[in-house]
Amino acid sequence: MKESALREEIVRFGRSLFDRGLTAGSTGNISVRLDDGWLLTPTNACLGTLDPARLAKLDWQGRSISGDAPSKEAFLHRSLYEERQAAGAIVHLHSTHSAAVSCMGGLDHANCLPPLTAYFVMKIGRLPLVPYYRPGDPALGDAIKGLAGKHSAVLLANHGPVVSGSSLEAAVYATEELEETAKLFLLLRNTATCPLNNAQIEELKTVFKLDF
Ligand SMILES: [Zn+2]
Repeated sequence: MKESALREEIVRFGRSLFDRGLTAGSTGNISVRLDDGWLLTPTNACLGTLDPARLAKLDWQGRSISGDAPSKEAFLHRSLYEERQAAGAIVHLHSTHSAAVSCMGGLDHANCLPPLTAYFVMKIGRLPLVPYYRPGDPALGDAIKGLAGKHSAVLLANHGPVVSGSSLEAAVYATEELEETAKLFLLLRNTATCPLNNAQIEELKTVFKLDF
């Protein structure tokens, strides 16, 4: 897809996510890999009113090529791209239900949501929790790097999800699947549940060639 079309796609998905309440104010950011760098939503930008011409274009050292100043969370994206060559796009939101789970105690840090549905397994797989770091702490980038080789998505403690996909559409749909699963998880608290068992997960991994 040409860069101009990718810019329009970022704007379209940003507006859709904002209009449906999946991100609020100027939170959340979206990026897409290009042949000659990558695009990222600007700092303090509202995802509902992005301008395709003002998206930040960066090189792989994080230097600005054109556009507005990039989101301060650029390093989250770069850390994930560096470890996942197949990642074509990344979505990071402070979406309510995923953020709520990220604040809970007693989570399994290796996989913080149970495999409640096949779709969560297929689009996210396992979701590790990245420990809390203050906003902008470069150590957060290193913590993501440590997990991104094996995981397409991570949940930042007391913050929200970072989700990669082969395309922007894939990353957005995976982010939405994660948010819906977080909602189910919260709805089902204190209720006996039957998550998928290991045999059912292995069947999905084989049939759909999942690697996690
Ligand atoms: Zn954030």
